[in-house]
Amino acid sequence: MNKIYGGMEGGGTKFVCAVGTGPDEIIAETRFPTTSPAETLERAISFFKNYELAAIGLAPFGPVDLNPASPGYGSITATPKAGWSNTNILGPFRQQFNVPIAFDLDVNAAAFGEFSWVPENHALESLVYYTIGTGIGAGVLINGRLVHGLTHPEAGHVRLPHDWQKDPFPGLCPFHGDCFEGMANGPAIGKRWGQPAETLPEDHPAWELEATYIAYALTGAICMLSPQRIVLGGGVMEQPQLFPLIRQKVHTYLNDYIPSPVVKGSMEGFIVPPGLGKRSGILGAMAMAMKSLQ
Ligand code: ADP
Ligand code: ZN
Repeated sequence: MNKIYGGMEGGGTKFVCAVGTGPDEIIAETRFPTTSPAETLERAISFFKNYELAAIGLAPFGPVDLNPASPGYGSITATPKAGWSNTNILGPFRQQFNVPIAFDLDVNAAAFGEFSWVPENHALESLVYYTIGTGIGAGVLINGRLVHGLTHPEAGHVRLPHDWQKDPFPGLCPFHGDCFEGMANGPAIGKRWGQPAETLPEDHPAWELEATYIAYALTGAICMLSPQRIVLGGGVMEQPQLFPLIRQKVHTYLNDYIPSPVVKGSMEGFIVPPGLGKRSGILGAMAMAMKSLQ
């Protein structure tokens, strides 16, 4: 019989748990709202208890402690999400399940999901996955491994050029004001233009400005990390007109400096939407579980 794996993607608004043998065979899946840590984790644990799992992958929102030598390993650290700061995620699962349990940040899981399950990515060794939604973050995979360092990359909080005359919006990051996330997450678009991002028409100037910030961030990531592909997911990227705008601006900002055919031309195969749609995170959590057995 094939082994069964569990995956959990824990977001700020909802949790998704799935069990299956892989992306093509999901046996069961459940989703429920993120309430208190105790109640939410209990729901996830009791769902997984119905199955004989070979391994589990946990991928909550961050920031998280990824250092196995730290007393806080497996926790969400300081988060603005009320009640969730210093919540141990891994501990309660370890108490209940005597199988390997992988733990990583949600967006790292999404990067790993895209890397593991999207056929077009199988020949790659490096990939960056950005989510542009309520928050902005990136999972970074280099030489087939997710990047952990001091903690994990915080690619949403990089500083970008900000033309205050063109865009007087001060940004809404509580830590940095006009960092990338502060300028370009969904709530920033909504606040700057006075209506929710998803209600702005396709030809609204918001998208040109949004593409500018995303392209600045991507240009930095390309120069710094040399990724072979960049996947852009999250609610804001549901605006398909952003993709050609971003590719064109990245092309302009790089100015043909990087001698790779991948970043010449239209970059249609280089800056791409998620191959797994909205399921990169949950399928990535399952892939983490499978990998933990190897
Ligand atoms: P989360 O980041 O909370 O997991 P999403 O990735 O769906 O969830 O991001 C939600 C954010 O994306 C909201 O700020 C919302 O305004 C924005 N958003 C959602 N759908 C769209 C859309 N179709 N076009 C533009 N922005 C959108
Ligand atoms: Zn910030």
